[in-house]
Amino acid sequence: MPSYNAPIRDMQFVLHEVFNVSSELKKFKAYEDVDKDVINQILEEASKFATEVLQPTNQAGDLMGCTRNQDGSVTTPTGFKEAYAAYVEAGWPTLSCDSAYGGQALPQIINTVLYEMLNSANQAWTMYPGLSHGAYECLHAHGTVEQKNRYLKNLVSGKWTGTMCLTEPHCGTDLGLIKAKAEKISNDEYKITGTKIFISSGEHDLAENIIHLVLARLPDAPMGTKGISLFVVPKYQIENEVLSTQRNHLECGSLEHKMGIHGNATCVMNFDGAIGTLLGEPHRGLQAMFVMMNAARLGVGMQSLGLTEVAYQNSAQYAKDRLQMRSLKGPQAPKLAADPIIVHPDVRRMLLTQRAYAEGGRAFTYWIALMIDECAQEQDANRKQELEGLIALLTPVIKAFITDNAFEATNEGLQVFGGHGYIAEWGMEQFVRDARINMIYEGTNTIQSLDLLGRKVLGDMGAKLRKFGDIVKEFIEQEGVKKEMMEFIDPLNDLVEQVEKLTKEIGLKAMLNHEEAGAAAVPYLRIIGHLVYSYLFAKMARVALNQKGSNDRYYEAKLDVARFYFAKLLPETASLLVLARSGSKSLMSMDEALF
Ligand SMILES: Cc1cc2nc3c(=O)[nH]c(=O)nc-3n(C[C@H](O)[C@H](O)[C@H](O)COP(=O)(O)OP(=O)(O)OC[C@H]3O[C@@H](n4cnc5c(N)ncnc54)[C@H](O)[C@@H]3O)c2cc1C
Repeated sequence: MPSYNAPIRDMQFVLHEVFNVSSELKKFKAYEDVDKDVINQILEEASKFATEVLQPTNQAGDLMGCTRNQDGSVTTPTGFKEAYAAYVEAGWPTLSCDSAYGGQALPQIINTVLYEMLNSANQAWTMYPGLSHGAYECLHAHGTVEQKNRYLKNLVSGKWTGTMCLTEPHCGTDLGLIKAKAEKISNDEYKITGTKIFISSGEHDLAENIIHLVLARLPDAPMGTKGISLFVVPKYQIENEVLSTQRNHLECGSLEHKMGIHGNATCVMNFDGAIGTLLGEPHRGLQAMFVMMNAARLGVGMQSLGLTEVAYQNSAQYAKDRLQMRSLKGPQAPKLAADPIIVHPDVRRMLLTQRAYAEGGRAFTYWIALMIDECAQEQDANRKQELEGLIALLTPVIKAFITDNAFEATNEGLQVFGGHGYIAEWGMEQFVRDARINMIYEGTNTIQSLDLLGRKVLGDMGAKLRKFGDIVKEFIEQEGVKKEMMEFIDPLNDLVEQVEKLTKEIGLKAMLNHEEAGAAAVPYLRIIGHLVYSYLFAKMARVALNQKGSNDRYYEAKLDVARFYFAKLLPETASLLVLARSGSKSLMSMDEALF
């Protein structure tokens, strides 16, 4: 059975030493009390919940899965309900929510760290509170006073949960094709009719009510994405703060049988004249839903970071215990029948790949979470716009780069176990199966790449990318003069120049033929991901080098991982650059009939 220890020191390293989070947050009145001690105390408590309460439910939850009962109700695996009750009881859902609705109003970055732990412990379970938090954010941003008063308090406390209902049988990526209908029945009420599929946490037994955010079309809606509206549709209606005993006209028609995240109920949801209210403006539902989708994209990055970390921990332990063959240098453990497999170079490659992707992903997600906190509090309009641009630019990179890396990392984790990795008992194959969905939902990774290159980079003639480039260049200027940093700064500087050249080239080619952008987008996103990681690993190396002579071997490991990243993972960009330039012709020339 796999185990998990929250990597608190690594979390603190990024929070306190790399980003000086508490002093950054102290600039804002709302966070002036959030000091290091407060953060550390929350990490300790969160770690207890994740390791002692949640992690023990993970493997059993995978084996058992969810069950749909004859009356349409859904039973989650043994232990899920109790873990959720303990989570709510301890006030975890309230952490970064508005105090006007019972939240603790702590910064998003603390919630982000909590979610890393929850996802390492049990991704399938974490999707229930994760989607609820997204629904909270969407209602908070777009709800009327009446809607906020009706729903937010119980979403914040965790008494109710939320979902996002976008996908239909004939459309997932292309939401412009949505058919679900909304018909006005009174001043503020609508009847929603249609079928939604793949709805995560659509029905379950963890909470007394489920608040569905549903995309549907009004009768006068224009075709395409400009004709979609968003509705709040509760499982049970609320009248005068009391839950109706009559269920709304919606139900879970069936559960999907799927590759991983078995403990999360993936539901076909049938809305049959269910009563709901409009959220945001008519026909502008997608814009409103984007609040939830963007939160969810960061959330999916956290899912994959969590899985990368837990796979690394288990495979590192196994590699120290498992004895096979002798080291190429001769026996390292002569008293044992063979050496532990950690002596072998390729086993170390697999371990360090996982570790580098965990450390890079942690620095990346915490950095963006800190930007989100700053952006929420910033009063200066120019700075706010700059932060919004950076967050928008890097959100698809978080979603796609971290989830692709996690699939590779969890696979490497499985491989370290040899045949035992393929056997369910060890838990490693579950991590691979769970990690696979993260590359698909919340917009597939291809769609994230098109969003990055098409909308976020070429869409504004590279303005947002240049802002990010300025941050990196400033760091290069500061650190490039220091001899001990050259091994990190040189490749970083080289990549910045390559990205500038490549972006111009693709931009020019795409003006003549849009398919050129489509063909380049996936390798382009990976290159940007590596640009982010090489900047962050150089920053982490800077912190570690500052501790030279401290005798704390922790910093030695930080430098080792950074050096591994630059030597073994970053060079992937050489082939990615070739791929990104290789054009669309070889993809598009074969006649469809010949496939
Ligand atoms: C377990 C699970 C949980 C989910 N949870 C939810 C949920 O809670 N709520 C919800 O609404 N949905 C949910 N989904 C749906 C998920 O978001 C969609 O499956 C996903 O967005 C892809 O849509 P699709 O499956 O219709 O694939 P399609 O849109 O049919 O895409 C098929 C393939 O074509 C590619 N493609 C499509 N268009 C383009 C293009 N323009 N250029 C290049 N490639 C393209 C895609 O990248 C993909 O590889 C979930 C799905 C699963 C499996």
